[in-house]
Amino acid sequence: VKRNDCPLDKDELGSRTWSFLHTMAAYYPNNPSDEQKSDMKKFFHIFSTFYPCNVCAEDLQEQLKQFPPQTDSQKHLSQWLCNIHNEVNKKLGKPEFDCKLVDQRWKDGWLDGSCD
Ligand code: FAD
Repeated sequence: VKRNDCPLDKDELGSRTWSFLHTMAAYYPNNPSDEQKSDMKKFFHIFSTFYPCNVCAEDLQEQLKQFPPQTDSQKHLSQWLCNIHNEVNKKLGKPEFDCKLVDQRWKDGWLDGSCD
């Protein structure tokens, strides 16, 4: 076992989870089937009941009530998730992310080629 293979703290878990969630949204279909739309809604509801940080999970459950997942297309889901993440950023005093840039950050890479 490597010495640095340690359990995640709230922030490590958070940044890795956001990476997964935003990447999943980036690769969600542009034209999802009714089943995919419904499954993605269910995914976020179930996810919010098992996310292993109590304060985070409770906060997310409240957000889902106020802002239900927008599962009509990749664009809508990615923008919705960006807004959800920004609400958490605001709560924690972190800078808001410009949601126009969400596909560059999580799917296509920056226009300046720095991810190529
Ligand atoms: P993170 O916020 O983890 O972001 C990772 C990367 O995502 C950033 O570097 C940036 O490139 C990109 N990014 C930032 N904002 C956006 C955005 N709006 N859209 C797209 N990409 C973006 N912590 C708490 O202390 N209290 C909570 O209630 C809480 N709730 C959480 C709820 C959820 C569902 C999750 C997944 C995490 C939650 N966290 C919470 C953890 C918190 O959001 C951060 O993950 C943690 O503080 C580490 O922050 P970070 O600076 O590494 O960047």
